[in-house]
Amino acid sequence: MLNTVLPSPWRAAFQRWWGTLPAHRQDRVASLLPLLAVAMFAMAVVSAIGYLRMEEWHTENQTLQRDGEYSRQRISVRLAERLELLQKFGHELTLPAGALMHFNRKADLLLADNPEIRDLTWLDAQGRVVASRDLMGAMASQPLPDGEGAAPALHPDPALLARAGSEKRALYQVTRASQGNDAVLGMVVPLYAHGKLSGYLYARQLLSSLLYYAVPSDIYARYTVALVNSAQQVLAGQVATQHAAAPSSWPVWLSQSGNAYSAPIAPLGGDIALHLQSYRADDRMVNRSMLLVLLAMSVLTAWALLANWRHLRRRQRSQHALEQETSFRRAMEESMVVGMRALDMEGRIQYVNAAFCHMTGWSPEELIGEAPPYSFWHRDDYERNTRILQKTLDAQIPQGGYEMRALRKNGTTFDARMYMAPLIGADGVQTGWMSSMTDITEPNRIKRQLSSAHERFARVLNSLDATVSVAPLGGKELLFANNVYRQWFGDDGASGHLQMLTEAATQIPAHVEADASSSEGLHPSMLPGISSNNTEVFIPELDRWVEVRSRYLEWVDGSLAQLVIATDITARRHAEELSQQQEARAQAASRLITMGEMASSVAHELNQPLTAITNYCNGMTSRIRAGTMDDGALLDALAKTSRQAQRAGQIIQRIRSFVKRSTPNYAEAGVAGMVTEAVELAEIEMRRRHVRLRSRITPGLPLLHVDRILIEQVLVNLMKNAAEAIDTAGMPTDRRLIDLDVGLAMREQRTVVEFRITDTGKGLSPDTQQHLFEAFFTTKTEGMGIGLNLCRSIVESHHGRLRAENLYNEGQVTGCCFSFWLPVPETGHAG
Ligand code: ADP
Repeated sequence: MLNTVLPSPWRAAFQRWWGTLPAHRQDRVASLLPLLAVAMFAMAVVSAIGYLRMEEWHTENQTLQRDGEYSRQRISVRLAERLELLQKFGHELTLPAGALMHFNRKADLLLADNPEIRDLTWLDAQGRVVASRDLMGAMASQPLPDGEGAAPALHPDPALLARAGSEKRALYQVTRASQGNDAVLGMVVPLYAHGKLSGYLYARQLLSSLLYYAVPSDIYARYTVALVNSAQQVLAGQVATQHAAAPSSWPVWLSQSGNAYSAPIAPLGGDIALHLQSYRADDRMVNRSMLLVLLAMSVLTAWALLANWRHLRRRQRSQHALEQETSFRRAMEESMVVGMRALDMEGRIQYVNAAFCHMTGWSPEELIGEAPPYSFWHRDDYERNTRILQKTLDAQIPQGGYEMRALRKNGTTFDARMYMAPLIGADGVQTGWMSSMTDITEPNRIKRQLSSAHERFARVLNSLDATVSVAPLGGKELLFANNVYRQWFGDDGASGHLQMLTEAATQIPAHVEADASSSEGLHPSMLPGISSNNTEVFIPELDRWVEVRSRYLEWVDGSLAQLVIATDITARRHAEELSQQQEARAQAASRLITMGEMASSVAHELNQPLTAITNYCNGMTSRIRAGTMDDGALLDALAKTSRQAQRAGQIIQRIRSFVKRSTPNYAEAGVAGMVTEAVELAEIEMRRRHVRLRSRITPGLPLLHVDRILIEQVLVNLMKNAAEAIDTAGMPTDRRLIDLDVGLAMREQRTVVEFRITDTGKGLSPDTQQHLFEAFFTTKTEGMGIGLNLCRSIVESHHGRLRAENLYNEGQVTGCCFSFWLPVPETGHAG
């Protein structure tokens, strides 16, 4: 509207300004404009009325002033006329003859012509009453309305008379009645005869009648007319006293008091003033009411506009909120990755969201309104899908949704899972069905992959020749068992699992068992040293040896479980036992061989005591025969013979115990004892080969946990080899020496007892060094070549090491040293 009203440059400026306003400001301005218009209208009306009122007031005022002036003049003229009449009447009274008669007659005529004059009194020069007349006749004693009796009327104030006489002019005096408002105007006219004061005429009249006769009646019709004195006391007539209380703050054109005129009446002196006031107050009342009604209507309109504006704002706010809500819901729908579809009660598509269209490739326009079979149904599934849809429409919604094969617009397919739910409107009435669609192609693929992975895993586990079982800590039920486990133990819970753990002594420690009930917080890594184990166990029910390995693991539900893997090692155990037996046999055989090799030495060794016994016997026989032998000598000889026999028996006993086949017998053994016994055996060979042995054994060596016969066998073998080497080398007597040193040493970070056998033979050739410990390697014609091989296996079965090295002196091999060490047990003590 403004556009049409404004001139074009203004319009352009307005449009520019309007464009810069934000939308809510534009709304505010647009809704405030009517309010502004109403306010301006109200102001315009008030101004117009005010202007008109001012105009009217001015006009009225002018009329009033004119009328007032006119009335005042009329009063003045009337007073002047009456004065003139009286003066003329006074002149005539100076005639001497019949003066009283003349006065009476003339006075009656005058009173009749001038009804406002109530009475007329003739006084002499001394102020004494000569005659007095009123309208009723000569009697002038009638009291006037002032209620003060005739005397004052007949006797004007002597001072006034004196002043009139001296000033030689008529004077007026107003006497205000004590009650009422009708004042009396007295008029004194001095009379002169021949230039001398001869008396006075004194006329009285009511001021009200003066007004009545002087002021025209139309003036009375429009104004209140009154004469007031300087003290604002009403002397005659009326004033609009009821309007005096009008508030002075009202503008003049609004005030209820009308225009007023007030001016003194000159002949009566400055004291008496004529007061006129217009009667227009009631008209103004109407105007003011109209104005108030108008203002009230404006206020009402403004209030209505304001209320409307506020209502509009509330509406706008709720509309804004609604728009926000709608756009939020739209955004939610659009950002959802689940496809949504709404069907009506007949199965016709009413709504699809963006995700649904994205999944299927069909646009909303293509889908909305479609009835089954839908475009995204696969041709081959029509029957199935129709059946499911029909069930849904019959309110038999498949629990947990259903899977279907969906067809994209481009012809490809995907697996989808659908969920249906009734669509209930705000009024509680079902309007259709809501369904969600999720693309489960990927989850399905992963599921298939997982199941095939599981299948592979199960196949691998089941094709193992070991049992694999998992049971919760302290539980009696198995969490997992493979086929072999079931073959071995049947489906009898975790009894086999627990049996193996018990046998393997890997039962859970007490503190762990105590915590088993709250095992959620227990982690496998918190069980140090027992999380993995490897033990060989014999299971009598199965007649099998198994190697049991167990470890703790966190099961899929987070609880602590124990995994047991048992491998059948029966065959291995049998083989090991067999080889152990064979080894023992070989060792025994080796000892026999050693003894066999030492047979000539042994024979030589036995020969000495036997020869001595023979010699003793022969000596005794010859001395007894000669009779030279007493009992004491005989007894002495017999004792010596017996000692020799014992010595021979000891040799045989030692050899027997050395070669006697025995089962492995590990026990605590003192080093010194073992060495001594071995040396005694070896010395048989050494004596024959003329080799000396020098043995140094560190005293206080710890006990060793060994099979002493086997260790002695090693020592005997090494010493015998050393003696042979020296003998073979053909060393001179002083160099036919073997050193045996036994002492403590540190090897491989362990405390060990080391045995060193040093000879002075030719040493080991490189070829010999290479094959030294091989079975059946020998450089001797009668040798078997199994001695060193067995020695090494014996030492190693005792967790020790055997080594050989040449000894050099200035680049020359001076001999050979065989050494071996055996670990000292942790708790080993001196033996
Ligand atoms: P045998 O003594 O029956 O030959 P061994 O296994 O005891 O069998 O010894 C194997 C070989 O090692 C011997 O034939 C010999 O050549 C060599 N040998 C062993 N001990 C020594 C030694 N102290 N000095 C030199 N050679 C040795």
